[in-house]
Amino acid sequence: MTVPGRLRTHGFEPFSVANGPGTRAVIWVQGCTLGCPGCFNPGTHARAGEEVEVAELYRRVAALADRIEGVTITGGEPLQQRGAVLELLRRIRAGTRLSTILLTGYDWPEVLRMRELDELRRCVDVLLAGRYRQDLRIARGLRGSADKTVRFFSDRYTRADLDAVPEAEVIVHPDGRVTLTGIDPPTGW
Ligand code: SF4
Repeated sequence: MTVPGRLRTHGFEPFSVANGPGTRAVIWVQGCTLGCPGCFNPGTHARAGEEVEVAELYRRVAALADRIEGVTITGGEPLQQRGAVLELLRRIRAGTRLSTILLTGYDWPEVLRMRELDELRRCVDVLLAGRYRQDLRIARGLRGSADKTVRFFSDRYTRADLDAVPEAEVIVHPDGRVTLTGIDPPTGW
């Protein structure tokens, strides 16, 4: 059980260009039970990871606000921790001008049944929804597979903006760590 006000996280990347338009902070949440065959990020499935205070995550994001365009929340499955995810999104909306993108493995009809839908619409600019389907892999436009749907809850971005996002990137950190990220990057993590 996650402690209220905390988010189980898999990773945090302050400067990514392959997880949405512009340079973005990316938060990978930890934990997903949806079990898409061929999932490209199986290390995010277990109920493990680091529990981080939402206030701390917001502090990290806000400190970057003049150097990034927005925040992308992905997984793992963000909507399996939606209390904490929404708390973070609310803070970002209220306290910054950063754009917000959320990727979920739930499909749109499932999202429609969530009681938090109205709040998601208020706090998220773009929602990408749907299970990953290996047989429909496309890995572009922020969609891992062609079944995924895109909902624009604001006029901040267009489909062309998403289509211009690179498929993958390699980030070399000052301490020598190397991160391969993006939408279904071809050689794994
Ligand atoms: S929802 Fe995402 S993280 Fe979960 S199994 Fe599917 S592709 Fe993997």
